Amino acid sequence: MTSIYASRRSRLAAQLGAGAVALIPTSPERARNRDADFPYRHDSYFYYLTGFTEPHAWLALFNDGRSVLFCQPKDVEREIWDGIRLGPQAAPAALAVDQAFSVNELDTQLPGLLENQTTVWFPFAAHEGISSQIDGWLNKVRARVRMGVSCPSMQQDVCVLLDEMRLIKDTHEQDTMRRAAQISAAAHVRAMQLSARMLRDGLDVREYHLDAEMLHEFRRHGSQFPAYTSIVAAGANACVLHYRADAALVRTGELVLIDAGCELDGYASDITRTFPANGRFSGPQRALYDIVLDAQYAAAAATRAGARFNDPHNAALKVLAQGLLDVGLLSHDKHGSLDDVLEKKAYFPFYMHRTSHWLGMDVHDCGSYVEPGEANTEAAKADPITGQMVQPRPSRVLHPGMVLTLEPGLYVRPGDGVPEQFWNIGIRIEDDAIVTAGGCELITRDIPVDADEIEALMRA
Ligand code: MG
Ligand code: MG
Repeated sequence: MTSIYASRRSRLAAQLGAGAVALIPTSPERARNRDADFPYRHDSYFYYLTGFTEPHAWLALFNDGRSVLFCQPKDVEREIWDGIRLGPQAAPAALAVDQAFSVNELDTQLPGLLENQTTVWFPFAAHEGISSQIDGWLNKVRARVRMGVSCPSMQQDVCVLLDEMRLIKDTHEQDTMRRAAQISAAAHVRAMQLSARMLRDGLDVREYHLDAEMLHEFRRHGSQFPAYTSIVAAGANACVLHYRADAALVRTGELVLIDAGCELDGYASDITRTFPANGRFSGPQRALYDIVLDAQYAAAAATRAGARFNDPHNAALKVLAQGLLDVGLLSHDKHGSLDDVLEKKAYFPFYMHRTSHWLGMDVHDCGSYVEPGEANTEAAKADPITGQMVQPRPSRVLHPGMVLTLEPGLYVRPGDGVPEQFWNIGIRIEDDAIVTAGGCELITRDIPVDADEIEALMRA
């Protein structure tokens, strides 16, 4: 296991350039109130390079591959309260780093480590106060310039390198993400079945009952926590994009939208399913559901190595826009042809988000969405909704091992000219896809998406 982290460190070190050192801290602990902290979550960049999950730690990595870890010192009294610490003595063997010090020595050791280097790399804008902390250490080096040492004159953003590395998931990462996806899928199955069963039994179902079922399944399989705040939205709440699982009643005849996924060993999953509370779609619900589902199939078919990041989005948009015209939510008289609908973004009141985002350690994972180094070929044009000038840039070319979500949706709020049968229906279908040479692997399909299969599952 440690070899994964060591090999990532050497791949990063090789890109730093001569006379360079990278400094990467983990996340701070955050107070919730008085003596209680928010649950601790390590920093993703730091974990990617160390596999180490304790707070109060820094990694210093030199371009020759040398690595120095700063971590919490052993402390019998603190360990009684907060748990066992690895400690600097055990760290080199456990984490395959060359040297380790107590984090209490950071201010005394760091200036020495920075002496006679030319460049210091650190994550820009990822940790509050980090640049002034590094400035403080550099000032100590500058104070010794008269004694013949030199001070790094360049600062670079290490995220630029790490984001590119993290964009392609290695075998270990893909395996972890598959397991996270399986746990989340099982949780969605349980929530769907619970909803139908409780309604059959004549019980009150509230959004938090379904949320609790999901959390139970996540933890039962060793997930540390949800990868993001779960959305469990009954009926009209599904049209609120970032609604939180709350206390609303889940009623027969309504749809329920659940967007929830667990984090397992540092990796996220992200699944959305929309299902009829009692297990039977109504006609209008089914009509919109099948449009979103077709859009998702179109997006999946457009996801493969060599395609662009925007291809699944554009494929989904075409199907959604055609569907909106077919069911009368948009009209040819008012909105013109399919091409007009796409060009003028007439679908926007019903579909206002993107179809995909990168997925990895972070639910909205790092990595550029445009192809680095590729020049713009199109002229800037005004966005038909906001009026702002937008410069279209060539989107990222997909490569095997990239992981993205495919999550088209439709959200219909009541309004003038909106057929009443569709009011308050909100639908999103979201799966996680690993890009492969010939297509993509949908790792979240242990939970069905086809409407008939969902109904069958909820009868069981
Ligand atoms: Mg989601
Ligand atoms: Mg998502």
